[in-house]
Amino acid sequence: MDMSYTFKCKDLGYDCSFEYEARERKDLMPRVKIHFKYAHNVFEMAPELEKKIDGAIKEKA
Ligand SMILES: [Zn+2]
Repeated sequence: MDMSYTFKCKDLGYDCSFEYEARERKDLMPRVKIHFKYAHNVFEMAPELEKKIDGAIKEKA
């Protein structure tokens, strides 16, 4: 069975259609960080935000 991991900005309350899906959970965060840099002007991600993002990542079967 193939699993993947998804993150949606909307799940954090952003008015933003960004979503990203990856096979490996560890591949999500670097991509999400790049998105936050360019779309949300977050150049240094605070640990609290990183935690929130991590908590919003969903597993998909
Ligand atoms: Zn976004």
